Amino acid sequence: MKPIDLRSDTVTRPTPAMRRAMAEAEVGDDVYGEDPTVNRLERRAAEIFGKEAALFVPSGTMANTIAVKLHTTHGQEVICDARSHILDYELSMTAWFSGCLVRAIPTPDGILRWPAVEREIRKPSPYWAPTALVALENTHNLAGGVVYPREVFREVCAGAHAEGLRVHLDGARIFNAAAYHGCPVRELAEGADTVAFSLSKGLGAPVGSVLVGGREDMARARLYRKRLGGGMRQAGILAAAGLIALEEHSARLPADHANARLFAETIAAAPGIQVDLATVQTNIVLFELTGGEITAPELAARLTSRGVLLTAFGPRLLRAVTHYDVTREEAAAAAAIVVELCTSAARV
Ligand SMILES: *Cc1c(COP(=O)(O)O)cnc(C)c1O
Repeated sequence: MKPIDLRSDTVTRPTPAMRRAMAEAEVGDDVYGEDPTVNRLERRAAEIFGKEAALFVPSGTMANTIAVKLHTTHGQEVICDARSHILDYELSMTAWFSGCLVRAIPTPDGILRWPAVEREIRKPSPYWAPTALVALENTHNLAGGVVYPREVFREVCAGAHAEGLRVHLDGARIFNAAAYHGCPVRELAEGADTVAFSLSKGLGAPVGSVLVGGREDMARARLYRKRLGGGMRQAGILAAAGLIALEEHSARLPADHANARLFAETIAAAPGIQVDLATVQTNIVLFELTGGEITAPELAARLTSRGVLLTAFGPRLLRAVTHYDVTREEAAAAAAIVVELCTSAARV
């Protein structure tokens, strides 16, 4: 039987419509700017986000790496939350490619608020690396897929700009945030100088992310993409699936959110599981094992043998992510197996 794969929303397979569009895509050489399908994807992404221009890139890591490079020079600082993807999951690209130091601010909920940012801003001085950039993440992966309160986001953008800083939004799952608010995604991009978003997560495309921002920034971004080895040729094959993801798949994210909610509420009743239901706002469920009878890797291994895949994020923390390849019935079945295994572990 096919496992119920809740490790990440990156595991989705392209739909038949995507495969058809890929097979039939009109293509050209994108390094020459001549791939009509890539150009169409970039134009639509810019439009949808209310920005001047966009750049199609192979991954979210590359989009964030390019954005940090655009907004900084070597020896500066980037302020972000202490559990940010750019800090913990991108092989220190901020240091490696941009030569910048990350000033990580711990937050209880992944939401970086203006007073906390303001306290950490460094001006040029004989001792300090000056701050250049504030990077925010919406939804916040390691905080459990939580959504930025809109007024908090606006306040950070306004405050940072008033201090002469730039703002990058790591919006790998920004469409999940928009689904949560029930608003167009452009409203959540307002105020950010650049936004990176994934086509290959909840939106279901096989490959790709997009960086959106100002025209001049995106022209420079194109050069950084080439330096990083991201200059692709007949990339319209990939962009064709990306266009379907962008135009059609955000409409189905509320179903993923409802399935995550169902999963979370079901496992919350199990002995030795702690899940903060207030953080289950989108398609991510983080839960902790509090009983001590079983570790997260052990539970993940037992779940695997029962056909349920999820990710252990440490000795006690696990993550489940819903997506379109997991039905409501499968989410319910997976949760029931978690409850069963935790109940029998507690009895030993
Ligand atoms: C997945 C993710 C990325 C990076 O995307 P890749 O395509 O895997 O490189 C960046 N930020 C966040 C918050 C993510 O969840």
